[in-house]
Amino acid sequence: MQAFLAEHLPPDWQGIGALTREEAEAFTTQWRNVLRDNHYLATSWPAEYGGPGLTALEQVILAEEFARAGVPAGGTNDVFSIQMVGNTLLDWGTEDQKRHYIPRILSGEDIWCQGYSEPNAGSDLGNVGCRARLDGDEWVIDGQKIWTSAGHLANWIFVLTRTDPDVPKHKGITFLLCPMDQPGVEVRPIKMMSGDSEFNEVFFTNARCPKENIIGEVNGGWAVAMTLLGYERGEAAATFPLMFRIELDRLMALAKERGATDNPVIRQQLAECHTKVEIMRYLGLRSLTQFLAGHHPGPESGIFKNFWSEYHQAVTQLAVDILGADAMAPSGRWPTSSFQTDSPGAPNDSASWVGTSYNARAGTIYAGSSQVQRNIIGEMVLGLPKEPRGSDQPSWRDQQAARS
Ligand SMILES: Cc1cc2nc3c(=O)[nH]c(=O)nc-3n(C[C@H](O)[C@H](O)[C@H](O)COP(=O)(O)OP(=O)(O)OC[C@H]3O[C@@H](n4cnc5c(N)ncnc54)[C@H](O)[C@@H]3O)c2cc1C
Repeated sequence: MQAFLAEHLPPDWQGIGALTREEAEAFTTQWRNVLRDNHYLATSWPAEYGGPGLTALEQVILAEEFARAGVPAGGTNDVFSIQMVGNTLLDWGTEDQKRHYIPRILSGEDIWCQGYSEPNAGSDLGNVGCRARLDGDEWVIDGQKIWTSAGHLANWIFVLTRTDPDVPKHKGITFLLCPMDQPGVEVRPIKMMSGDSEFNEVFFTNARCPKENIIGEVNGGWAVAMTLLGYERGEAAATFPLMFRIELDRLMALAKERGATDNPVIRQQLAECHTKVEIMRYLGLRSLTQFLAGHHPGPESGIFKNFWSEYHQAVTQLAVDILGADAMAPSGRWPTSSFQTDSPGAPNDSASWVGTSYNARAGTIYAGSSQVQRNIIGEMVLGLPKEPRGSDQPSWRDQQAARS
């Protein structure tokens, strides 16, 4: 792997964070092609579907080496294309679907985004109201999705749709695969507090997809949706502790640069951050041990998710405190992504830290909010009594009527 990186990266490579935004985008596109051509993309996929078929241990080593070198493990939308829908297709898809979609994901011909959340269905995802009905050989979709990350870069969307309103809410959902390049699909960008527009609203008006573009059974989409969420929340144990270590080292350098290490309160906070990154490393190792033993990430992945996302708000707030008044008028290079840390190699600019602190706010919301994760951990990991739920579940339609 070291030889591969040395061969394909420039000799003065410092990490993708050292590039400008335009350079980083161009590098990511070109790097994805290098990974694909060398069979380092979608590392868990079996060789029969075009993946490299690496063992679990090899996948972990590769992910760590990429993180250390400061290069992405795929393209911008691959978290949706490979990690989420690709993996889910391999679990649930028919042989025809796997043979059709998987190569197109690898080639980059199909670029996916995630159509789960709606204005009235976020934490309560089972409440989705985006409707789909069969019209001859096609599904017709009407409704709205929201917070669709990188939807403006995608040409396919996987959509949770309401196909039977007259049964309890989780039982009338169907998982559809919808092409976005059609008049019935409109993508409207949402402007974030950083000024960027990384996510969108997606409106479906008489949008259509073929009848066979369904994963799992009609009205059986909930189980498929949960499989996909397992993939969304897992897969971070190997790389996140490394990324947070690189980020904390950079913060230590900032604190020294600004003379903040003389301040006993700041010193104590930095020590606390160091302790938490170490704890995260051990939490990661525990998840990796389970992964290497063949277990898919289950409800306990919420423990790691809550720990890193809450830590990240604290560490970036500390950075803002160290910057002091400079954080009010940030300058320099802003982070290139709204997710997790700024990229390895990023300069110690105030804009990098302020932007990352904005982005850290989102960490306790996406992929399941902290409160909801705590409910899951309480009920499914610790075995605490469940929240009261009515024994007679009303239909989705009756529930809507009662709410309005
Ligand atoms: C950066 C970012 C990217 C995203 N990308 C996507 C994407 O690509 N595709 C997509 O479909 N969605 C995406 N989302 C949406 C995300 O999944 C939802 O925001 C999330 O599920 C929370 O839903 P909500 O925003 O509707 O908040 P709500 O569900 O309305 O929650 C509001 C508050 O109530 C709390 N709460 C809700 N229910 C409970 C409960 N039972 N017990 C205790 N507290 C509760 C929550 O914790 C939260 O604090 C993204 C979100 C962010 C921030």
